Amino acid sequence: MPKRLFYNIEMFQRTLNKAVKFSGIGVHTGELVEVEILPTETSTGISFERGDLKGSPTIKALAENVVATDFATTIGIDDCRISTIEHLMAAFYCLGVDNAHVIVGGPEMPILDGSSALLVEMIEEAGLKTQNASREYLLVKKPIRVKDGERFVYLLPFRSRSAEQTLTIECTMDFTHPSLDRQSYSIDVTADTFKEEIMRARTYGFLKDVEMLRKNGFAKGGSLDNAIVLGEGYIMNEEGLRFPDEFVRHKVLDLIGDISMAGRPIIGRVKAFLSGHGLNHSLVKEILKSTDSVEVVELVGADIKRGVGGN
Ligand SMILES: [Zn+2]
Repeated sequence: MPKRLFYNIEMFQRTLNKAVKFSGIGVHTGELVEVEILPTETSTGISFERGDLKGSPTIKALAENVVATDFATTIGIDDCRISTIEHLMAAFYCLGVDNAHVIVGGPEMPILDGSSALLVEMIEEAGLKTQNASREYLLVKKPIRVKDGERFVYLLPFRSRSAEQTLTIECTMDFTHPSLDRQSYSIDVTADTFKEEIMRARTYGFLKDVEMLRKNGFAKGGSLDNAIVLGEGYIMNEEGLRFPDEFVRHKVLDLIGDISMAGRPIIGRVKAFLSGHGLNHSLVKEILKSTDSVEVVELVGADIKRGVGGN
């Protein structure tokens, strides 16, 4: 039985009220893919299925199934792969969706507009259902640090924990590009802050890399409709940026999607410098190994009186 902590937030598991269906282009494959997100039973977690393959192989969205982290987070089992799942995973995490099954009609999730905004809108339109089971959290007790040269992602305990605060992120990036100088972003992650500050931030790429990416089979579906593209000293998108610091906000979005692969929401604070999918994934592997640094907890608080299993 996990330890129970007093908290003033949602403590029951949730799934979708009804199925969500959409389609779009994969940024790397350039192929049109259909997706269906289905509600599932308690404690089933997030799973993905390749609907286009024989036997419809299913892969749990957990760190142990991550097979690649170049340009996107890819999960796989044997020859079955599904990539670019991080923007949907971030939406699930921040909206508090614990259980869902995602059927994807190809090897890559649609990129949509390069952010999580449309995914959040579709999930909220379907609505969420509170389920008859407690949600388990990972409480950080001791720092966990991963580094690669000057780049790092740290997961730290809260100095003093408030009854509303679960995850905070402080992220910094630094590039030698006129549009992309040092940017930092700090956020107390909740559904509301994610919707207001993070979900619309788009993925980005450098024009000089596009040719190389295409040669290697990536970015075939990439365009100014689904990414910010940086030329030599300028931004190619006519409409400009959605936020002056859109780049670092997207880094936060990716970080949330990647650390959700720990399988449970986290109570702790993340400090990141020049993070990326690879480093984020290393952190999650470390979290799952460091059993003395994190503890599985359930929450009790004001919401418990609202009744179990209600909608
Ligand atoms: Zn991203």
